[in-house]
Amino acid sequence: MADEKTKTEELRERLMIKDSKGAGDLTSEEIARADEFCEGYKAFLDLSPVEREAVEYSVALAEKSGFTEYDPNASYKPGDKVYYVNRGKAVALAVIGKNGVKNGARLAIAHIDSPRVDLKPNPLYEANGLALFKTHYYGGLKKYQWTTIPLTLHGRVMKLDGTAVDIKWGDEPGESCFCISDILPHLGQEQAAKPMSKAFTGEDLNVLVGSRPYPEAEDEKDLVKLNVMAILNEKYGMTEGDFLSAELCLVPSFKTRDVGFDRSLIGGYGHDDKVCAYPALMAALDVEAPEATCITYLTDKEEIGSEGNTGMQSDFLRYFIYDLAKQDGEEGYRALSRSTCLSADVNAAFDPTYASAFEAKNACYLNGGVVISKYTGHGGKYDTSDASAEYMGKIRTLLEKNKIQWQIGELGRVDLGGGGTIAKYVANMNVDVIDLGVPVLSMHAPFEIVSKTDVYMAYRAFYEFFAE
Ligand code: MN
Ligand code: MN
Repeated sequence: MADEKTKTEELRERLMIKDSKGAGDLTSEEIARADEFCEGYKAFLDLSPVEREAVEYSVALAEKSGFTEYDPNASYKPGDKVYYVNRGKAVALAVIGKNGVKNGARLAIAHIDSPRVDLKPNPLYEANGLALFKTHYYGGLKKYQWTTIPLTLHGRVMKLDGTAVDIKWGDEPGESCFCISDILPHLGQEQAAKPMSKAFTGEDLNVLVGSRPYPEAEDEKDLVKLNVMAILNEKYGMTEGDFLSAELCLVPSFKTRDVGFDRSLIGGYGHDDKVCAYPALMAALDVEAPEATCITYLTDKEEIGSEGNTGMQSDFLRYFIYDLAKQDGEEGYRALSRSTCLSADVNAAFDPTYASAFEAKNACYLNGGVVISKYTGHGGKYDTSDASAEYMGKIRTLLEKNKIQWQIGELGRVDLGGGGTIAKYVANMNVDVIDLGVPVLSMHAPFEIVSKTDVYMAYRAFYEFFAE
């Protein structure tokens, strides 16, 4: 009777939280499904470095799944699927439920902007025979990580005549890329002696874009710059003044790759927060005839505080829900007050190399499953909505019931730093909300890392939340 449990073992099993074995807790079928799901994610990530592209890709996938463009004047019946784009940079995808939004909507909200390097309004200059762009970084990034890597230029230019030109330069193999230089170690003693926050300043992030003068020129004034402008004019019909009405972003030009001998991880640019956006999108595409109307909302500007009319602080989603409520004969604010939300955002995965930044018992781990952050914020729980025990309990039950691998995660040890998500802006609309997403290693770096099984568990969580 060697396999009979002792009383202590039995008690331990009944009372204590079980230690996670990571992917070891999953069946090989689950792991295979995760690997397959992530192939779609990798394609999404590669084609969606900036929010406009993420919206375009999402809408294309949604249309293939039978979604149509939302018409505020049309009336919708249960099972109808609509998408509603806000200024090309955010998109709401709704599956109309049997009860509409009368008892509230189910919301999964992720952001599709990621830290990057934006061009200044007047970016192009020439110095010492080189043409360069002045930039202003977007979001919280460690500036040194963005030097000496190949960069690609994405964005939109509005010309004086009102036409839009979309720019994409540097993605294709064989196409040229751009780069921010750094000082060589031999001459970097002064830089090395500075604290990291001072070693690279924002004004140092100048991007190399050319070095040959305009050929056979009659004078010598800024010919390298002129040559760059001539190339841009030939390809895009733009002039230097058109930079003034443009949104141009530099993002890493390397592609998404599997990481590790076992290919268990994915490295790529912009996991924060497309790694939650894609599973939330797929959950909306896959859910059929839910009870409550389900809305996946992919929002912009989270990395700079959710500001602006395409960010989460905008009334866009509120108005959309008001419109849906009107159709159901319900007051918009009542529909909103009964709504529940998963704020689909990433958390920092425990990094054994930087273990002291975390509190191991409350940190999240790669392969531990989808991570719930009851609160984010910083020092003394400032700037967070902090989900209630009741709502946390509801989500915990949902995950356990559906056997979705999950874990709890606090963002780093107390008083070290912190961060926020869109959750608090959703909470301000009187909606129950909690953060649920994927653990990320090297968050905000040009090449971030996530686990394939965690991505799949995020999809399962959003799907069951919608389908419940
Ligand atoms: Mn995020
Ligand atoms: Mn972020």
